[in-house]
Amino acid sequence: MPTERDYYEILGVPRDADQETIKRAFRKLALKYHPDRNPDDPDAERKFREAAEAYEVLSNPEKRALYDRYGHAGLQGQQVAPDFSSMEDIFDHLLRDFLGPGWDSFFGGSRAARRGQRGRDLRTEVVISLEEAARGVTKLIEIQRREWCTRCRGSGVEPGRRPVACAYCGGAGEVVRMSGMFRVVTTCPACHGQGTVIPEAARCSECDGAGRVRVRRRLEIVIPPGVDTGTQLHIPAEGEPGSNGATRGDLYCTVVVRDHPLFQRHGRDLLIEVPISYPQAVLGAEIEVPTLEGPERVRIEPGTQSGSVIVLRGRGMPDPRGGRRGDLIVRVFIEVPKKVTAREEELLRELAALEQRDVLPQRKSFLERLKDYFAAHFSETSSEGQKPDKSS
Ligand SMILES: [Zn+2]
Ligand SMILES: [Zn+2]
Repeated sequence: MPTERDYYEILGVPRDADQETIKRAFRKLALKYHPDRNPDDPDAERKFREAAEAYEVLSNPEKRALYDRYGHAGLQGQQVAPDFSSMEDIFDHLLRDFLGPGWDSFFGGSRAARRGQRGRDLRTEVVISLEEAARGVTKLIEIQRREWCTRCRGSGVEPGRRPVACAYCGGAGEVVRMSGMFRVVTTCPACHGQGTVIPEAARCSECDGAGRVRVRRRLEIVIPPGVDTGTQLHIPAEGEPGSNGATRGDLYCTVVVRDHPLFQRHGRDLLIEVPISYPQAVLGAEIEVPTLEGPERVRIEPGTQSGSVIVLRGRGMPDPRGGRRGDLIVRVFIEVPKKVTAREEELLRELAALEQRDVLPQRKSFLERLKDYFAAHFSETSSEGQKPDKSS
């Protein structure tokens, strides 16, 4: 709706004002009635629109000539106000004309605060077992995040009370200082660009003026099969809320897979060490090996060496990207018993005696050297006491 008021009067300039004067006058008014500085003030908004309209006409020589001759009537059918849907667009457009590149930083923090900022991202951790990592799992986690206070709706002001103009910046929300030839505009440190501060007595009783409260949030997160320690899960829109309707931040959840008592993980493969006895290694056996799906019978070939591996294909961890499942690598080692029964000892002694006749070459030399050593250092009688005796 175009204004009825006189354009020269609105801008406060004489009828013969030159372009420079008109520009300066508008700039002054634009800053004064700037929507960012006068939030929710319809009067300021009206004045700003009027000034924008007056400037639109008087800065255009053709329109100005029509207006000078016929008044408002001369502009019928002409575009008198910049046709922008929102106040901010008008302002941006005009400021760009005035200030050139970098115009947006002119209003610094106060502008960003008004436009709204995306909420903060949050980070958390979830600890799962190897079995859960293999199968995938849904976990209930609890996070703490700040939400807008419902009592004051984020303003920090107790309902019924009012904030006061910031004394530091005089309510402008920003501080201007000269640095050589340049005007340097920074967000007011006292009010953080708000232009107002909340006196102690007016602070919201729920959030103590912060505008936000800490709340616990429980949420279920779905962990896909195959994840490893360090895998980061992205949960959109579970971070902190944005300001002025801006979007919520996201939640990033880092997975920690607990060490397993039996399996060691190497990427997609799992490694397990399984003890076997000397007779099992020599004669071959069928042993039970734990897998993620439960025990499985595995054949040990006769003559298996300590440290040999048996690969169970596809029994490792799933690939989170849908590739082939890893393997379960079974490494057998020969366990030397610390205690044996009398019967076992008897058999082992018999075996040892038997082996004396047919030992491996390098062992033979060692045993021979050992025999020589005993023969040289101990007499028949004294070596009696060196003999292992099970009764002692
Ligand atoms: Zn509050
Ligand atoms: Zn301030």
